[in-house]
Amino acid sequence: MTAVTTSLAHGRDHLSIPGPSVMPERVLRAMHRPAPNIYEGELVDITASIKSDLNFIAGNSGEVGIYIGNGHAAWEASLVNTFSRGDKALFLTNGRFGLAWADAAAGLGIDVQILDYGHAHAANAEELESVLNADANHSIKAVLTVQTDTASSTSNDLMSIRKAIDNAKHPALYMVDSIASFACEAFHMDELGVDVMVTASQKGLMTPPGLGLLFFSERFWAYQEKSDLVTPYWNARTRVYPDMFPDNFNGTPPTHHLFGLREALNMLLEEGIDNTWRRHAVFAQAVWAAIEKWGEGGSFACNVDDPNMRSHAVTMVNTAPDVGYQLQQWCNEHHGVVLGVALAPEPGRKLLDNAFRIGHMGHLNPPMLLGTLSTIETGLQAMNIDKGAGAVDAAASVLAAVHKTNAQLQTDTNG
Ligand SMILES: *Cc1c(COP(=O)(O)O)cnc(C)c1O
Repeated sequence: MTAVTTSLAHGRDHLSIPGPSVMPERVLRAMHRPAPNIYEGELVDITASIKSDLNFIAGNSGEVGIYIGNGHAAWEASLVNTFSRGDKALFLTNGRFGLAWADAAAGLGIDVQILDYGHAHAANAEELESVLNADANHSIKAVLTVQTDTASSTSNDLMSIRKAIDNAKHPALYMVDSIASFACEAFHMDELGVDVMVTASQKGLMTPPGLGLLFFSERFWAYQEKSDLVTPYWNARTRVYPDMFPDNFNGTPPTHHLFGLREALNMLLEEGIDNTWRRHAVFAQAVWAAIEKWGEGGSFACNVDDPNMRSHAVTMVNTAPDVGYQLQQWCNEHHGVVLGVALAPEPGRKLLDNAFRIGHMGHLNPPMLLGTLSTIETGLQAMNIDKGAGAVDAAASVLAAVHKTNAQLQTDTNG
């Protein structure tokens, strides 16, 4: 006799965490194939097209380097190619990931200065400008920030930071971590004057973890030449200007990741990156609308108060003590929906019990998004947690409004 269970989780499990994100069937199928020749043929061709399509999506007229590694590896690659021991780096942080990038820099012997904006606010460009103005002998070599902090779900206004550097007439390089936001939130490398952008394969790019991607401006190479931290394996120059194909990866290429990424890029190009960004903006608003409703009758709120400072890829939700963690456990156990646990602001391994995160990045459509929100609604009801009514309705209204606006436009053009 089988024991009766309260779980209804029979079907496809759904990952609603902010990375790794859901992998499309097309990406999985593209990877299901025999090992290829790594000296000539298809792999060589698709690597060139991957680089040029990545640059197209990033709005970058410079170069791109592909590293086998996760985001942390990409961080280290970005640092060792830019700095020498004792160089000064100015980090603008607002959550956990900027601080962890700064930690990596400090560990490499870089002189780290931090302007920290806590766990719920974007960086303040005016403060940056005055710090840069005070740096009269230009000892700060680079300004570094995160586009979206995945722990706090804060987003920075990258153009305001660019303008602050320009207003101060400071020569610092501009380095951005777009690991959570790439192919989710708008990014234009050339227009932003970003010199180094770091991302990875497993979030908006819908490919398994294992590729760190670095984008470089033309200006970067003069700094790279002088960096005394760079070691042979991490050297960006050999990867970007390889003698033979495997030099792109300083060894055996990540063969199946490349097939997967090629297919993921096909999907993004078919959708059109502006549409991808818009889809993420709409989904984020649907999530916020639901949270607002839950908050009308209970203790639920977006961690970031100002919608202009919120990520479009992930949302951190603050709850009463214990509720966030228990809800996360409930949804996983009973409905097969994995919500993100909430990470404490400081680097380390601590989890918060009074918050959870909803990842809404990458391969996501309305049934997946509404499924997650409805599961949260169900969990809160099952657990008898006080909350406002109408959350899923509110999310549906945000999605419906997109089509109403389109229908209106259609009528206008026809009329
Ligand atoms: C996920 C993430 C990282 C870390 O990437 P790993 O692949 O886990 O090393 C760094 N920065 C941001 C903003 C992220 O979202």
